[in-house]
Amino acid sequence: NKQVILTNSVKGSLRESDMSLRTSTICLKIPDGCNGAVLVKNLYLSIDPYLILRMRKTPYLDAITPGSPIAGYGVSKVLDSSHPNYNEGDLVWGSQAGWEEYSLIKDPHNLIKIQDKDVPLSYYTGILGMPGMTAYAGFYEVCSPKKGETVFVSAASGAVGQIVGQFAKLLGCYVVGSAGSKAKVDLLKKKFGFDDAFNYKEETDYDAALKRYFREGIDIYFENVGGKMLEAVLDNMRVHGRIAVCGIVSQYTHEQPEGVHNLLTLITKRVRMQGFIVGEYYHLYPKFLEIVVPRVKEGKMTYIEDVDEGLESAPSALLGLYSGHNVGKKLVVVARE
Ligand code: NDP
Repeated sequence: NKQVILTNSVKGSLRESDMSLRTSTICLKIPDGCNGAVLVKNLYLSIDPYLILRMRKTPYLDAITPGSPIAGYGVSKVLDSSHPNYNEGDLVWGSQAGWEEYSLIKDPHNLIKIQDKDVPLSYYTGILGMPGMTAYAGFYEVCSPKKGETVFVSAASGAVGQIVGQFAKLLGCYVVGSAGSKAKVDLLKKKFGFDDAFNYKEETDYDAALKRYFREGIDIYFENVGGKMLEAVLDNMRVHGRIAVCGIVSQYTHEQPEGVHNLLTLITKRVRMQGFIVGEYYHLYPKFLEIVVPRVKEGKMTYIEDVDEGLESAPSALLGLYSGHNVGKKLVVVARE
């Protein structure tokens, strides 16, 4: 069983040497005494920014311990099961896919069976999986959006951002995104239907950029990056605006996150800023699928993936997220079905 192991706890930024490959043996049958377990073959690994937080022991997140395989979201196939809900041959997705060829999942309670296979299977790492649910919960549940409102999304071409922008357009909002290259900005405008977009690495006066796109201010900010972008956004929020704090990826590689100095805006403009974790919203997954699957099939929603082949490419794929190498949802193919 080829595996990618976390070699040591991460401090500050992540290095490729924090992860290493090893091969171990695994029996491809559920061992005796593992009632309720499933044995899976991992197909697609979802490469997600939050993994660095689990590698450095962050409160409220399950730590990945040095010496054990990295594990996260992924799509897998059940090879053997001693759990009544899963059968050999089932395709599943969930948060317990190891960065390894095969995983024995002793407590598979959060594995979701894939019912609709009429869409690319890899979409269950993205638009039909955790990032899709994150966009859905963060936008509809946390932001309480209304038709005609103005929406700003940072890291907008990524796994979550590209979906938030499309939800906002479907609702009839005006939506602008920021991203880190010209190619990404083009995708936002031409592929995902954003009204406008800018490259924050070229236009470094974020305040001026936001004032140009939002003359009347921002009603909703879908926060993916934190730091200086958040400061600039706060100065451009409208009264009674809402900010869904989904992530602050610009700070994940800093040992000491940057401070935000204008939180007084929350008071003066009565802005609601709320963090959320997608894990608390999976009860909405069936409703989410009803909305999104038909739109994907009809081509009313689209999704861009950035795919690497082979388990050994997972460490560099993860590293690349923190400098914006990925264009769209980053995933790694371990095996095809
Ligand atoms: P992405 O696919 O967007 O990949 C990360 C992107 O972040 C990069 O492509 C890069 O895009 C951008 N980025 C990296 N470093 C910086 C930086 N220093 N400043 C600004 N942007 C940077 O990731 P996801 O869509 O999967 O995740 C987006 C956010 O959502 C993350 O913060 C993540 O932690 C969070 N999240 C939160 C969840 C929750 O439950 N709350 C669940 C899932 C994700 P660019 O080239 O544009 O800079």
